[in-house]
Amino acid sequence: MAAKSTIEPASRMLVAPPWDGACPGCGLVLTRRGGPLHVYLGASSACWELFQRLAGSSGPQPDPVRVRRLVQDTYAAQHPGTRARRAVQSVALHLMDLCVQLERDGEVRRLVPVLGRMPARKSLELHWLDPPAIRGTMTVVDALRAGDGEERAVLVEAWARQVWAAWEPHHDTVRGWLDAVPIADTTVRAS
Ligand SMILES: [Zn+2]
Repeated sequence: MAAKSTIEPASRMLVAPPWDGACPGCGLVLTRRGGPLHVYLGASSACWELFQRLAGSSGPQPDPVRVRRLVQDTYAAQHPGTRARRAVQSVALHLMDLCVQLERDGEVRRLVPVLGRMPARKSLELHWLDPPAIRGTMTVVDALRAGDGEERAVLVEAWARQVWAAWEPHHDTVRGWLDAVPIADTTVRAS
């Protein structure tokens, strides 16, 4: 009986290595989790699970709203997926939001109406942006490892800047989309 139990685990390991390969978005190689995949983001199930853990945590960061938005935008931009309607919109809108936060001092009210009113999408004529091969070296793991609090805010900011920098060939396109966004009545914007 004892001998049988020592053999079984070894044979299982030979048949099914506990790896599901690198995440197609960020390259992380994680132990297989068997969880669900996101519908259009190009992420392994294990990486997606880590993102959900990160997105669901809330700590005493100095600016939790900014950290949350940066996490969502950065993860989406690092895991663009493949050319499909929802992925096209996702990549475009999340890159626009990254640009707003990193280059335009959080010009929040200007972008929110676009995200809320989908007809504006047509006038913007969003299209697929071919993703850069390398989209930063930091991943969701770096942000999680920091724990809650200010350290995470700093690392998320660095992660976001890496990913935004990786998309440099498309920066002008993204800025052009932002410039075409109608300004809402409530917008207060310094020129
Ligand atoms: Zn990933």
